[in-house]
Amino acid sequence: MHIEVKGLSKSFGDFQAVQDVSFGIQKGHLIGLLGPSGGGKTSILRMLAGLETPSSGDIIFHGQRVNDLPPQERGIGFVFQNYALFKHMTVFENVAFGLKVKKLPKDGIKERVQSLIELTGLKGFEHRYPAQLSGGQRQRVAFARALAPEPQLLLLDEPFAAIDAKIRSELRTWLKEMIERVGITSIFVTHDQEEAIEVADEIMIISKGRLEQKGTPWDIYKNPQTQFVAEFIGESTTVANISSLTGFEEAAAWSGTKGLIRPEYIEIGKPGEITLASAAMRGLVRHIHFRGSEWMVELEIGDIRLITYRSLEKEVLKPGDPVDILIHRAYLFNDSNSWIMENK
Ligand code: ATP
Repeated sequence: MHIEVKGLSKSFGDFQAVQDVSFGIQKGHLIGLLGPSGGGKTSILRMLAGLETPSSGDIIFHGQRVNDLPPQERGIGFVFQNYALFKHMTVFENVAFGLKVKKLPKDGIKERVQSLIELTGLKGFEHRYPAQLSGGQRQRVAFARALAPEPQLLLLDEPFAAIDAKIRSELRTWLKEMIERVGITSIFVTHDQEEAIEVADEIMIISKGRLEQKGTPWDIYKNPQTQFVAEFIGESTTVANISSLTGFEEAAAWSGTKGLIRPEYIEIGKPGEITLASAAMRGLVRHIHFRGSEWMVELEIGDIRLITYRSLEKEVLKPGDPVDILIHRAYLFNDSNSWIMENK
């Protein structure tokens, strides 16, 4: 289902939980709503579902304004973080629930439930109750149950939040494959950036009720358009006096400009080791941390602190060692603009 949202806002009393949010979603895409707690993600999802009435704005499914349609007429399936399965019903009965409500013929229900149970890898578990399943299995049942009535849009609110890290990672890969196979437009809420980056076709970054940026995970990572997005996605260090760093002196022309610097754009070497020596600065190693696959190195250039990573094959640095530091790229922001500045 193609979705269009225009100027969506929601106030609770004086508090504006969602402010003038507009976006479009292509049919079949998996979208991650990502942002800090309290930013308005769930409120947006609930308005799409019809569980909350927008204060203003339009929600359009397939060219039809659905603001006034009740949830059950919007063709939506839900998966919540706390499973919300019916405890007294078996896996089979849980998956069949929405079809029974629709009063479909018994044979049709059986066939559809069996195919969903197979699709979601739950064969053999049909007669178990939710209490007899693991967290990951319960979420699969929740997914199968949501898909049973053939919704056109699937909404998932922190579907993996209650599941431990290892299973969560398996489950999100599984979910992505399932959604691709079924071809259903889906939106999931998360505050876990890794999850959003790994799973979503597109991410929408929501903060303080506003849509900060929408794009592919790669695009958002490479071209953050606001300071908030750059700090929220990936690792970075914010530098207030960016123009004091070699190669970024021009930033002094724009007052109030800050830089963000990502670890992967920092090259370090023992003094004299860096090829583009004219652009390098002398600094010191403050600390190093062993990360299993690499060293995390904390650097100091005057009063500026930066973080980068160094591969295990390279000679080990020690705190206090002098190093040459070359910053290849910085993201610059002021109140009205954003730029990328490179040192070549
Ligand atoms: P989280 O990640 O913690 O679930 P969120 O981004 O999903 O957060 P929302 O649940 O949409 O955020 O909440 C946005 C803001 O609106 C919060 O400050 C919340 O307290 C407020 N809010 C949500 N629902 C209501 C309500 N029914 N009445 C009053 N305030 C509400």
